[in-house]
Amino acid sequence: MYDLIIIGGGPAGISAAVYAVSRGLHVLLVEQEKIGGVIGKVSIVSHYTAIIEDETGETFAARMRKQALDAGVQVAYETVMEVQLTGKTKRIKTNCNVYQSRAVLLANGTTPRRLGIPGEEALTGKGYALNAAECAKEYTGKHVYVVGGADGAIKEALYLSRFAKKVFVIHFEDKLGAIPEFTNKLNQLNHVELFLHSRLTEIRGNDQVEYLQLTDEKTGAITEIEDKGCGIFVYAGATPNTQLYPELHLENGYIPVNEKMETMYEGVYAAGDICAKQVRQAATAVADGAIAAINAAQWIANLS
Ligand SMILES: Cc1cc2nc3c(=O)[nH]c(=O)nc-3n(C[C@H](O)[C@H](O)[C@H](O)COP(=O)(O)OP(=O)(O)OC[C@H]3O[C@@H](n4cnc5c(N)ncnc54)[C@H](O)[C@@H]3O)c2cc1C
Repeated sequence: MYDLIIIGGGPAGISAAVYAVSRGLHVLLVEQEKIGGVIGKVSIVSHYTAIIEDETGETFAARMRKQALDAGVQVAYETVMEVQLTGKTKRIKTNCNVYQSRAVLLANGTTPRRLGIPGEEALTGKGYALNAAECAKEYTGKHVYVVGGADGAIKEALYLSRFAKKVFVIHFEDKLGAIPEFTNKLNQLNHVELFLHSRLTEIRGNDQVEYLQLTDEKTGAITEIEDKGCGIFVYAGATPNTQLYPELHLENGYIPVNEKMETMYEGVYAAGDICAKQVRQAATAVADGAIAAINAAQWIANLS
């Protein structure tokens, strides 16, 4: 029996784990992949307070992992499949084990949104849906396409521009939605081209992407682009990983919480990008995790 089981080892889960252990809780953190979450996979981490120079997702995640392990956090690298949130004892079933705890923290974040276009399934990993941090160097001197116009997309486009011969940004709105720091830098590059009010609507190819089809949002006009061996990087938003929690009332798919990060069930907390909230950043995820853990510790102390 654990005091607190934390689902997800991103910034929210790790922050919570470190705080919870410091308050004497017996904690298990369950992570299906690697410690770090979404931020652990980005090319460059920006704006978070006290990051080191040239902080990459990898270095940031490595420090998060070290901090958690040094603090004595127990980590199970397993996938949570089913969760029972009601009742005094919470039950967390993974692909390997069944765990029990007094309190549980749902910090399992979001998953990048798929576009649902023809060719997506077949070409994923074959030039499509690539990770810029991992694959940028492979596209040195080649063409790359970035789908999306928000901060994450433009930041990764800037990173890709260090290697690629040409970067094309495909965004469905009339204007990019990223912060000036990123758009100003992008505007200074002469090997970047924007396809605005356009959507990527089909990709074709055998073992690599060979053709892209773009559709103009305003006119419906279709443009076919032949670009054998190009790379496509998709940053078109994310969907919350809340399908595990059918018992919870959700807001647009996200978990509503109060100021203590409590959900509608006693002893069930949520933190980070999975919550219904306005700002989704590592900084807000870390803050949520700290608040959730401190309140969970108080709630558990009051039980006995
Ligand atoms: C391209 C991009 C760039 C970004 N750059 C920045 C930046 O520079 N600065 C910044 O502050 N923010 C940035 N962000 C936002 C930041 O990454 C997120 O706000 C942050 O990662 C949210 O943390 P989280 O812990 O809530 O969730 P996540 O990071 O999504 O972590 C959730 C974790 O839960 C795990 N998980 C999911 N389901 C299960 C399951 N069933 N069982 C077990 N484990 C599970 C996942 O594997 C993952 O490790 C960026 C986002 C993107 C997309």
